[in-house]
Amino acid sequence: MQRTVFNTDHEAFRATVRDFIAKEVEPVHHEWEKQGHPPREFYNKLGELGVLGIEAPEEFGGGGASDFTYSMVISEECARAGVTFGSYSVHANLILPYLMEYATDEQKQRWIPGFCSGDLMFAIAMTEPGTGSDLANIATTARLDDDGSHYVLDGAKTFITGGALADRILVVCRTSPFDPADRRAGLSILVVDTTSEGFSVGRRLEKIGLKASDTAELSFSSVRVPVTDRLGDEGAGFTYLTHNLAQERLTIAIGAAATAAAALQHALAYTRERDVFGRPVASFQNTKFVLAECSAEVEAVQQFVDRALTLHNAGELSVPDAARAKLFATDTAGRVIDKCLQLHGGYGYITEFPIARLYADTRVSRIYGGTSEVMKTIIAKDLGL
Ligand SMILES: Cc1cc2nc3c(=O)[nH]c(=O)nc-3n(C[C@H](O)[C@H](O)[C@H](O)COP(=O)(O)OP(=O)(O)OC[C@H]3O[C@@H](n4cnc5c(N)ncnc54)[C@H](O)[C@@H]3O)c2cc1C
Repeated sequence: MQRTVFNTDHEAFRATVRDFIAKEVEPVHHEWEKQGHPPREFYNKLGELGVLGIEAPEEFGGGGASDFTYSMVISEECARAGVTFGSYSVHANLILPYLMEYATDEQKQRWIPGFCSGDLMFAIAMTEPGTGSDLANIATTARLDDDGSHYVLDGAKTFITGGALADRILVVCRTSPFDPADRRAGLSILVVDTTSEGFSVGRRLEKIGLKASDTAELSFSSVRVPVTDRLGDEGAGFTYLTHNLAQERLTIAIGAAATAAAALQHALAYTRERDVFGRPVASFQNTKFVLAECSAEVEAVQQFVDRALTLHNAGELSVPDAARAKLFATDTAGRVIDKCLQLHGGYGYITEFPIARLYADTRVSRIYGGTSEVMKTIIAKDLGL
């Protein structure tokens, strides 16, 4: 089915990204998977390529585009090649809206040039050992010191993508006590310099997929954070999260649609090549039917996600619609990739085959950025239930 979201600039950008992946990523990605992250200088290469701050203003070294379609191109090219750019997506797709919308001019001048060049890599720390889906329950605290110039931050975070290598971390913390009458009140976002005393990285968690991006436990023990490093207003953190999680969920939906499309291509190629009982696997009626079903699902999810992207570019993607896109795209990707893996037989289970990596990498898309169950609660609320 024809797609209408890409123009000639996007296609030229696609060619550049494809070439970059072929030269700089594919030959070494297995080494990144072994060590659990790309080398630090890879992020500077992304900066040089101009992909870290596509939507950041040109005065700060960004690309000045107001078009999330470029990010979709990167997701599609990574899925096609079966690679990831480490923690790039959190940095570029999740963090930038926070900096653009809530940072002061002075903060933007301090942070965004390094953000765009890759000199300052960012992560975001919401999840804690005791709370993930229920963000209002965050227990990490930040209290003002006596002269009111610094917050003193104490607590622990877990599952933080890029947390082990980040230079700055947006830490969601409690700046006033939990209020059962207003569960969303009292959260703020501090931008923590990871060279600060009292900050430490704990375990790097071993995952079943996404092995080229680090996922870390973090600890904050009386970390002093200048008040001038608070993002936006004190106590407004939950509202900021609600607003920006829509782009995070769209990012995940886009990635899921891209991996489903890539899985279909892998299965088409593999089943044409592989002979069983003296004939290509693709010639069995079951294979044709399964791939036909997958093709219909891929087209449906692609059109849905493209529409969500168009709405997002126009500033009109609502929080419930972002939840619908994430729920549908990630469920569809899970189904399609599973069917495509099955058609590979035993080779589908071997990680040197891209379909096996897609299967493992995509599973988490139904969990992070808000689980499928949380997406359903958002959608149900929108239905008035
Ligand atoms: C690889 C990876 C990377 C991540 N990166 C980051 C990151 O960079 N920053 C960050 O802050 N976090 C990150 N996370 C954390 C992620 O966002 C959380 O794991 C996720 O939000 C779920 O929280 P939880 O793990 O605490 O699960 P829980 O909240 O404990 O949920 C357990 C189960 O209960 C279900 N459940 C919860 N609430 C309800 C409800 N109301 N109704 C019905 N069922 C419910 C859930 O859907 C789930 O099935 C990452 C996680 C992973 C695995």
